[in-house]
Amino acid sequence: MLSCDVLSKRSGTARRLVLNAAAKINLTLEVLGRRNDGYHEIVTVMQAVDLSDRLVLEDADVLELRTTASDVPTDGTNLVLRAAAALRDRAAVSRGARITLEKRIPVAAGLGGGSADAAAVLVGLNRLWGLRWSGARLAEVAVTLGMDVPFFLHGGAALGTGRGERLEPLPTCALALVLVNPGVAASTAEIYGGVQPAMYSDGGQGRGMVAALRSRRPSRVAATLGNTLERVAAPRYRDVEQMEAALLAAGALGAAMSGSGLTVFGVARSYDHARQIRDRIGRARWACWAVRALRGPAIRIR
Ligand code: ATP
Repeated sequence: MLSCDVLSKRSGTARRLVLNAAAKINLTLEVLGRRNDGYHEIVTVMQAVDLSDRLVLEDADVLELRTTASDVPTDGTNLVLRAAAALRDRAAVSRGARITLEKRIPVAAGLGGGSADAAAVLVGLNRLWGLRWSGARLAEVAVTLGMDVPFFLHGGAALGTGRGERLEPLPTCALALVLVNPGVAASTAEIYGGVQPAMYSDGGQGRGMVAALRSRRPSRVAATLGNTLERVAAPRYRDVEQMEAALLAAGALGAAMSGSGLTVFGVARSYDHARQIRDRIGRARWACWAVRALRGPAIRIR
């Protein structure tokens, strides 16, 4: 629900919004080839999960970002400020916003945290500034900020093609998952840069995952996981194989790396099962979460 507080004595109309911005995982990610523009052509099945950053947006004269996270920039390169500036320019708005960002999604971890924050800012400022833009119009701004940002305007599960930005909504299934992160950041550019033509595939795994989601059987989803980028990341970062082995040893039905890594996830039989796996793995040196797949929006105004 929208929360409205009077914060500014000057205008008497200032408002405050609190939003949750959920992370995503890639149930499959295949690289089909390299495009003329230097990007890779991919096919990926993305799924929003309930590990979220929290953002507070308050009316202000200028754009301003505060965060307690030490591993994200606070200058104009932060996706939060880039999203706010892009919307302000496109909508020719003369107002600003004071944005407070509480990071819970690990940074540069293949979980799309920065993209989720950017989408939350677009949704939140659309409301705070009274723009009444449609989702389609917000999506045009979203894609200029990053290929994953349009996905977060939808949430649930989606098939992404092109550079991942062309989206087709997919049926969701009641999935419980365990995320494991080694606390080591991998650069998306480094991992994509290591993809060799011999690793290219034809999108068949993505089609298999669409069928698995339609079957609504977690065991079939678990058997269909796959990520081309794991073939680049695993030899360079030993934690990837170790985390997957730990997930499987703890009872996960299947495991894979998300996005460009290095977070890996395991599929559980139920949420209780996911918590058992998390408790077993939590004794290791990695950060670990039991999460549920989100069937609705990735961005929620609380
Ligand atoms: P993707 O899977 O979309 O490539 P990721 O999940 O691996 O992204 P992010 O957490 O989005 O990675 O961070 C990627 C880079 O963006 C980091 O180097 C980080 O410094 C920068 N960044 C800018 N703004 C943010 C933000 N709000 N939250 C997290 N990272 C941000």
